[in-house]
Amino acid sequence: GTQFSEALLFTHRGLSGPAILQISNYWQAGQSISINLLPNESAKDKIELALANHPKQSLRNTISQWLPKRLVEALFEAALLDKALNQLGHGEREQIAQDLNEWSIVMNGTEGYRTAEVTLGGVDTNELSSKTMQSSKVTGLYFIGEVMDVSGWLGGFNFQWA
Ligand SMILES: Cc1cc2nc3c(=O)[nH]c(=O)nc-3n(C[C@H](O)[C@H](O)[C@H](O)COP(=O)(O)OP(=O)(O)OC[C@H]3O[C@@H](n4cnc5c(N)ncnc54)[C@H](O)[C@@H]3O)c2cc1C
Repeated sequence: GTQFSEALLFTHRGLSGPAILQISNYWQAGQSISINLLPNESAKDKIELALANHPKQSLRNTISQWLPKRLVEALFEAALLDKALNQLGHGEREQIAQDLNEWSIVMNGTEGYRTAEVTLGGVDTNELSSKTMQSSKVTGLYFIGEVMDVSGWLGGFNFQWA
């Protein structure tokens, strides 16, 4: 149920950018994530409005006004994009709208430790004094920063904490 409204970046390896870095903190292998490519807008309403105003406009030209053309061509089949809006069935329009507002994908992995910026897990905070950071088990032993089970969101929280 965790969600972030941040920028998204398409790289030659896959998805990146702040939104993806943030959600990767919560993602478990095999889980799908849902991406809203038109945040704060109803793709269904936009498509129905375009259909009413420009029924003969192709789906490609319609969606390319909202998203980069190369992304549009990667998301949808060419045969579908070539159709005029008034050639699309109700079900097709619903599906296209869902793909735009709730693009669901299963990532096949992350880049792992090689490019990770922060790690989950570490020394349990319950075993440390919050005033001195001293271990409650071993006098004179202190922990702070990445080695602890504290993972900050983007925004400098990890540096600040460390
Ligand atoms: C690419 C990248 C980008 C990041 N960007 C941000 C950011 O924008 N904002 C933010 O808040 N956080 C960011 N982080 C996270 C942040 O860098 C870490 O949370 C923070 O540096 C942790 O500090 P630390 O001192 O606990 O650990 P570290 O900085 O990892 O320091 C541990 C040190 O211990 C040394 N060491 C390890 N083992 C031994 C040993 N056996 N003997 C002696 N020395 C040893 C290591 O060489 C290292 O110098 C980023 C991390 C990465 C990798």
